[in-house]
Amino acid sequence: MITSGSRINLLGMSQAKLMQFFQELGEKSFRAQQVMKWIHHEGVQSFEEMTNLSKALRARLNECAEVREPEVAFEKISKDGTRKWLVRVDNGSCVETVFIPQGKRGTLCISSQVGCALDCSFCSTGKQGFSANLSAAEIVGQVRMAIRSLKETEPDRERAVSNVVFMGMGEPLLNFDNVVDAVSLIMDDLGYGISKRRVTLSTAGVVPAIYELAKVSDVSLAVSLHAPTDELRNELVPINRKYPIAQLIEACQHYLDGLGEHRAITIEYTLIDGINDQPEHARQLAELLKGLECKINLIPFNPFPGSDYKKVSDANLEQFQQILYKRDCRIMVRTTRGEDIDAACGQLVGQVNDRTGRSARHQRRLEAKKVQVMPLANDGFSSSSKGKHIQ
Ligand code: SAH
Repeated sequence: MITSGSRINLLGMSQAKLMQFFQELGEKSFRAQQVMKWIHHEGVQSFEEMTNLSKALRARLNECAEVREPEVAFEKISKDGTRKWLVRVDNGSCVETVFIPQGKRGTLCISSQVGCALDCSFCSTGKQGFSANLSAAEIVGQVRMAIRSLKETEPDRERAVSNVVFMGMGEPLLNFDNVVDAVSLIMDDLGYGISKRRVTLSTAGVVPAIYELAKVSDVSLAVSLHAPTDELRNELVPINRKYPIAQLIEACQHYLDGLGEHRAITIEYTLIDGINDQPEHARQLAELLKGLECKINLIPFNPFPGSDYKKVSDANLEQFQQILYKRDCRIMVRTTRGEDIDAACGQLVGQVNDRTGRSARHQRRLEAKKVQVMPLANDGFSSSSKGKHIQ
């Protein structure tokens, strides 16, 4: 691996940016395509291996550039095949990346920020506070690292990573430019060539950024709704106070209109016992989503230390589904994967050097409640999912 602090990291450069980089070096822009194939298809570790570049150009690249992935602090493999990597990024913090195999499909769940500034009341990442945005190289580096690591351990698997979801740590739309570059590389044939239908960006609802995204990308969109009314959503997803549900749904419709083909928004709804899992919530949800082309992803809440919420009961989950089902909603229920390695949905911890003070407050709350927390290195959670179609 080529490493140096001051050199420019080519790993996170979109095709357009890499072409510009080579033009500025006085090279033909097609060098960008050659180098992208080496970086993303061949996964090479050094410019030396890029044998269709002249020796002089390789030497020059060595001086001013690098291809540097974030380092893996540890990897865990679940009995069900789910894998979790704790990935160390430049500021010394760690984020998590999770791979969930399902038959021929393999979904990689990646992080876009260290921690999260949004503080949704049921999300453990939010309790860690916010530390930093990941660079495009740190985001794409998670994909490259996972593909390489899977190839090493399962060489016969044809396309290990078939889907990528931005459902790890962070709010992707609050790290807009880096996430857009990473998305474009993940979908680019010279990058990872994963189709727009198989790359999903999940947002808590940063409405203006959804309009911005519509201008520059056609990546699939998932929206963390979690409540059918503003009153309840204000409590669960505080950014709702700034961008209420009506504005969010309008933005979703606008995003879909821009796609101009048969596509749907994914609506994520984490079911919490006694909070948002009642029949009237299901009825209100179906009413709210009428007319929006969408599929609803029901996620049973995953408890974490210090949280007062409880997981939805099986009976309430069943009832909730039935109400939606009768109203012709498309539903998927996410089942928990990788529980034995703490890779369950939305409980992502990583190692955040918090800048908000929220992590310290959460810690004090845990101490007051005498909650024992495992050392972080064994306690990383991440968003992992398995969609079970019931319709
Ligand atoms: N910031 C983005 C991505 C975050 S995580 C977003 O909000 O969409 C991906 C999904 O997991 C989100 O829908 C999030 O609300 C959900 N989630 C967070 N904590 C959870 C928990 N403890 N149990 C179940 N789902 C959770």
